[in-house]
Amino acid sequence: MAIVAALTLAIATAFTAPPLAASLVGDYQTLLASRYAPPVAVPEGGFGWEIAGARFTLGRGTVALMEPTSLGEVTGFHFEGAGRFEAEVADAVELRQLRRFAEDEEMQAVRLEISEMLVRTADPATLGLDRLGEPAGPYSVHAGAREQHADWRKYGLVDVDARIAAAARIAGDRYVRVAMKTEEHGWLVFTYDELRPEEIELTRFAKGSNESWLALDRPDERDDRGRPTSPWSDELLEPIGFEVAVDVTRPGKGRTRGVGAVNPVQGAFETVGRYRCEHNGAGAVLLALSPFAQVERVWRVGGDGAQGSELEFVRYHVSGDDSSLPNDLYDDDLTVALDVPCLTGEEIALGFTYEMELDNYASLLSWYPTPRDMGFEEPHTMQVAITHRKDYQAKGMGELVSSVETDGGVVSTWRTKAPVDAAAFTIARLPHEKSYEYEGLPTVVMFGTRSGSMSAEKIEGFSADIINAINYFQQLFGSPIASDTVQVTFIASGHGQAGEGLIQVSDSIAQAITGRAVAGVREAFLAHEVAHEWWGHQLSWASYRDQWLSEGFAEYSAMLFVAASLEGGDRIFRDILESYTDELTGSLGSAFGAFSRPGVALINKRARERMGPIGHGFRARTAEAPTAYSSMAYNKGAMVLHMLRVVLRTISKSDELFFTVLRDFVATHRGQAVSTEDFQAVLSEHAPSDWSWFFDQWVYGTEIPTFSYDWRTEKLGGGWKLVLDVEMRDVPDGWRVPVPVRADFGGGESGELLVMVDSPRKTFELGLPARPKEVVFNPDFAVLAKMK
Ligand SMILES: [Zn+2]
Repeated sequence: MAIVAALTLAIATAFTAPPLAASLVGDYQTLLASRYAPPVAVPEGGFGWEIAGARFTLGRGTVALMEPTSLGEVTGFHFEGAGRFEAEVADAVELRQLRRFAEDEEMQAVRLEISEMLVRTADPATLGLDRLGEPAGPYSVHAGAREQHADWRKYGLVDVDARIAAAARIAGDRYVRVAMKTEEHGWLVFTYDELRPEEIELTRFAKGSNESWLALDRPDERDDRGRPTSPWSDELLEPIGFEVAVDVTRPGKGRTRGVGAVNPVQGAFETVGRYRCEHNGAGAVLLALSPFAQVERVWRVGGDGAQGSELEFVRYHVSGDDSSLPNDLYDDDLTVALDVPCLTGEEIALGFTYEMELDNYASLLSWYPTPRDMGFEEPHTMQVAITHRKDYQAKGMGELVSSVETDGGVVSTWRTKAPVDAAAFTIARLPHEKSYEYEGLPTVVMFGTRSGSMSAEKIEGFSADIINAINYFQQLFGSPIASDTVQVTFIASGHGQAGEGLIQVSDSIAQAITGRAVAGVREAFLAHEVAHEWWGHQLSWASYRDQWLSEGFAEYSAMLFVAASLEGGDRIFRDILESYTDELTGSLGSAFGAFSRPGVALINKRARERMGPIGHGFRARTAEAPTAYSSMAYNKGAMVLHMLRVVLRTISKSDELFFTVLRDFVATHRGQAVSTEDFQAVLSEHAPSDWSWFFDQWVYGTEIPTFSYDWRTEKLGGGWKLVLDVEMRDVPDGWRVPVPVRADFGGGESGELLVMVDSPRKTFELGLPARPKEVVFNPDFAVLAKMK
């Protein structure tokens, strides 16, 4: 009903169709050539424009206009001379990010002098480009501009020419990208993209180490603190469902991989994607697909499933002009010109054929053409028909609806029972499979290859960990797993990921079943993936800013599982806390321990200080610390949950309050995409207080306190008085940190209480029933801090 209503509404709303250029590919080729007119002087009195509160001013200098498109539109110019860029940053959290990145503590707004500028736009009117005069040839290749575009494609996977060629076909699409050369920071790139949930971004662009300095909603979409409010979903298309036919019978070119000695296969895909149009008058759509997929054809699918018009598309072959890259690397954007522009609410279906080499799996989102900015909160259906050789088997998501033998092999077709937020499949040659059924648990299927050093024993050897973890989490979170079957499949890769009811785990973990692995590593890894069935699927995340609610929660859940279910679990739990504390505070103490992730140890102080916070998701990364996201979302995310638990436990004298919060978070938001603010609201219901300070410090801030302390006791009436002097450094004014203090009275007697440290020096006087033998401030890595 809702769809029909939306469609009717859309048809009733007229839109001004942009005049369609002759050809997407033709325009794209023109733009790709990077041809510019000879430079002319900037008009007397200067030239400038404003977009979404950002002001650009060109004073003295020259501008060279870009060659117009087939519609006569100028989409760019190059400037050399003296210019300025100014922008206010109303969002305090983003301003903090800017100060850290720019290494300027006093910065109040962006004010930069510019000596060179490269501007590209689909919106020449807003910029007033006509004031720069009529473009006049002869046009010649601008080497600097061409090189910059190549770097954007290669290091940023951003194809600006494709974006602008598409914008010419999308009604009302405003897009501006301005690269600015600054004295202090090198090249900064400002982007305003009206089709992105957060329209404004400022990036420091350096080859291979881009940093996202600012990301803002456009002014009318911000809340009163300047924070973004846009839901994270693609502004052009919403996914409805996909039907994929993939043939994996041909061998790939790559070498044998993984513990299972997997031979890669060449996947030939034919995919039909169904989408709902979200923009009135979109004559082009922007899709994302694995950069390794080589796209052959795109066409319109008719209502009867029949093939309609062939559609033009653009997808840049990044390694085509750089032999240092793998040969099959493309830009991950797939830009398609529609034969007829779509209207808001209209359903469209597109067909695609493409090829890509696969190891023995296809993982979440990358292997089918999704809307460009689709997150993990846009459920869609998936049917995948996998044609494989007879010595193979396949596992997809949902249920096996048919398995048919053909001359070439076997076609096994899988279909989701309910929409999922991402789909995956795994194949195995010489497969081994075993199912486990227990009362109150989903059916657990263990599946993997028996080749290489993988064996039936190894595949089955993990079932106990998986089953125990499911059982533990179902009880802990008070909510059953969403699917009735959980398939655990082994993949030739160093990582794992969890889809709804289909978990893919690295086969390297198989070595842990026989090798001399440290206790807890294997269990923590597997339990992390199992925990995603709650943190990630039952609750997905609202935007990249909230992704720690999936990774940090899964990580901490895995730690809880290890603590509760392994012999010596409490010690392993403490070892993990120690390892994460060391990593986040730059201590080498346990850097080579079993739980520190290689490459993540951030021993460089400057690198740690420039990183973004948990609440900036992948934007935490810096040039010096490319793995900052995992340090923040996984490790610090788990530490933040632990700190919260310690506080709740100390004030309520029981762990129950913390677990009630987790359970209620799942119960309240099951099936929704959640934000940090949603979690804070559930917390405030059970522990009534304004917890903003906690999240502001630990999720949106990056500081970590350094503590030192001293204690003494004095006789006080019938008992004792503990005098505790605490020093807190390395945090801004206004920080407050509740820290547990443990007093050990000997003979196994101890007590714990909480002190609130809210100034650089503080003395606490605490009454005790007896004289303590030892007093420990911040025992067992309760609070993420450096202890001096
Ligand atoms: Zn994870």
